[in-house]
Amino acid sequence: MSQVISRPLTTLLHEASQKRNSAFGNRITYSPKVFIPLTHLCRDKCGYCTFAQPPARVTSPFLSPEDVLDIAFQGSLTGCHEALFTLGEKPELRYPDAKAWLAENGYESTIHYLHAMAKLVLDETGLLPHANAGAISYDELSLLREVSPSQGMMLESLNPDLDCHKGAPDKEPWRRLETLEAAGQLQIPFTTGLLVGIGESKDDRIKTIEAIAASHQRHGHIQEVIVQNFLPKTGTRMHKHKPCPSDDYLETIALARIMLPEQIHIQAPPNLSDDFGILLDAGIDDWGGVSPVTADHVNPERPWPALDRIANVTENQGFSIAPRLTIYPEYASNPATWLDDKLHFPVLDRSDSEWLGRDDPGAIFPEKIEFIKNVEDGAEVAQVGEDSTQWYSGSTINPANLLLGHARSTSEINEIAQGVALGQEVELPQILALFRARGGEVRAIAELADTLRAEVNGSSVTYVSNCNINYTNVCTFKCRFCGFSKGPLSLNLRGKPYLHTLEEIIARASEAHHGGATEVCLQGGIHPDFDGNYYIDMCQAIHDELPNLHIHGFTALEVTEGAKRLNEPLDSYLKRAVKAGLKSLPGTAAEILDDEIREILCPDKINSEEWLEAHRIAHSVGLRSNVTMMFGSVENPIHWAKHLLATRELQKETGGFTEFVGLPFVHMASPIYLRKRARRGPTFRENLLVHAIARITYHGHIDNIQASWVKIGLEGMAQLLQAGVNDVGGTLNGENISRAAGAKHGQMLTENEFEALCKPLGRALIQRSTLYEPIDHGITKVPRSSIPVSAE
Ligand code: SF4
Repeated sequence: MSQVISRPLTTLLHEASQKRNSAFGNRITYSPKVFIPLTHLCRDKCGYCTFAQPPARVTSPFLSPEDVLDIAFQGSLTGCHEALFTLGEKPELRYPDAKAWLAENGYESTIHYLHAMAKLVLDETGLLPHANAGAISYDELSLLREVSPSQGMMLESLNPDLDCHKGAPDKEPWRRLETLEAAGQLQIPFTTGLLVGIGESKDDRIKTIEAIAASHQRHGHIQEVIVQNFLPKTGTRMHKHKPCPSDDYLETIALARIMLPEQIHIQAPPNLSDDFGILLDAGIDDWGGVSPVTADHVNPERPWPALDRIANVTENQGFSIAPRLTIYPEYASNPATWLDDKLHFPVLDRSDSEWLGRDDPGAIFPEKIEFIKNVEDGAEVAQVGEDSTQWYSGSTINPANLLLGHARSTSEINEIAQGVALGQEVELPQILALFRARGGEVRAIAELADTLRAEVNGSSVTYVSNCNINYTNVCTFKCRFCGFSKGPLSLNLRGKPYLHTLEEIIARASEAHHGGATEVCLQGGIHPDFDGNYYIDMCQAIHDELPNLHIHGFTALEVTEGAKRLNEPLDSYLKRAVKAGLKSLPGTAAEILDDEIREILCPDKINSEEWLEAHRIAHSVGLRSNVTMMFGSVENPIHWAKHLLATRELQKETGGFTEFVGLPFVHMASPIYLRKRARRGPTFRENLLVHAIARITYHGHIDNIQASWVKIGLEGMAQLLQAGVNDVGGTLNGENISRAAGAKHGQMLTENEFEALCKPLGRALIQRSTLYEPIDHGITKVPRSSIPVSAE
């Protein structure tokens, strides 16, 4: 290590940057936070501090609960994820006013009041508290662990003789080391750090870094290390001291990166350096908390640079920027170890698929749901409390336009694009790299997908005039995401169980067909009374009555179950279904083709291989089908990538898939969300990327990428049509499944509404058949090259 320490600064910076790049790629994070200064009173007197104030200078010893909530709400409304509680150390031990205030309000100590306020903020706003309570005991840390997904305390320096810490009993290094150790024993994701330039030597700094590394080796709990530079402030004992020299600061950041274990994030605050871009050269991967609302109460004279400026500086140096939660992904993704049980859901509720902060603009408030009424085919639920203003699949809020601004390609994205142009297929590592995209990189991927779309599909946008008949909502399966199915005994839980008669089904199909529908899509629950012939009889009855109506029906689960109930091989069963009029299968029931994820989402359903096998057999008997993927509930990008690759392999074998349909998870009334075990669906960025990356992955194999307007809404669809999507699906007269899960985009769109979507994009709307043959005024035409049919 002594060799490292004595290296020239430029060598250290280079080495630190390399280590950061290999650990975290080009991603730099920040935490959108609101600062809640619970009390400015402190029993310590540090020579550099302007945060601590005597009682005479404050209006009240502590912020009231109303003040705390007010600040937190402001933070929530502007899209913060974190409520950073800052406070002085144990003011009640020094100031009678503080002691009296706590006693009058029923709190044993400052830490107990902090616990109560963190809980209040969490419950009312959903912001994730980060408690920065100083050198506290094991029991105090343990109490705060219930309400704070992460905690922090700067180690500052292990030099016990610093002048600035005279009169500051809580800055004794041994006390702070004890806190660090106790946090490790309690498995608290912990933030610590160094203060550079307060009179310590380089040797002191190295010892401090080594102590942090050693504590992390024992417990694995140090999620990030802040390296902060001293700046003199008026009104403090150190106001005449020199600021921390820039070289010392950069050297300390670089040494922290080099000496600390690779997985520890290194943070430097952007508001304490005029030219903060240089900090990236020293190996940081995080800007820390950036507040759109409150001042930096510890450094009030240094306001945070606007987020746009931080993003520009970061991106101009070749990095991407992403908001994070107060708890880092490495810890959030392992909640059983690192989080109190009560915090699993609040963290999940704000996280995206990479366990970073959801990045749609707007507020996320906790959803408090009341079931209010049963409707004919399902149940409507009502949300009470504050309305979130972020986009979700199924909500009526428009997403931000992610396609505005410049595309920014990384060398990796360029390489992928060049490979695709040369006819190479993207594989798992490339797909995962594409899913990490942020900002301008998303636009670069959308452009690539759009180019491929134009090459394959020309300028047309296709749709099918169809009607959906969800013939029963009674189901013996227990898919945990399904807001549609009702067990026969669940009448009192949600909507009424129903089963349409064959006459009703034919009447609905007939009405739709006479209104111009060319396809009837049949999907329903797995009714306990059905034998396998029910499905075949339904096809026959519709086909006899309406021979020109394309019957697109029955998921892999329905046909597998139908054959099983008759003890008949699936190929023979499907051949009978074809004879009875079945023309194609919908690709639903695929959810995510990964058995670990299926175990969470739908443990008693067919597994991944059974889904693939059902489609393989369907294709072998002449049925076409499509691929769907329901994404955004509990899985991660690796599962999306594997799903795309498994279905691409099958397509290479059979050529039977007509299209890929992205189905973003609609959370609002989904049981798994109501039981607090899933996210709020994908973010809009993830939604756009899934469709764009599907286009790139399937290029040359599946020609049509469809997006679901029922879940995404028309504003979102307009963006997706510029990111690889060429098909808007069906008019869907009568769709109930998304609606039962909470989607609010209605049940039907007309041709005129589709036209209005396509026209501003310069794209021609063309009606198609289920199998992508163009249709003109109800007449199916010979396929044209502008509307490709998937490879046979
Ligand atoms: S998704 Fe289908 S199989 Fe699963 S519970 Fe809902 S209706 Fe039943």
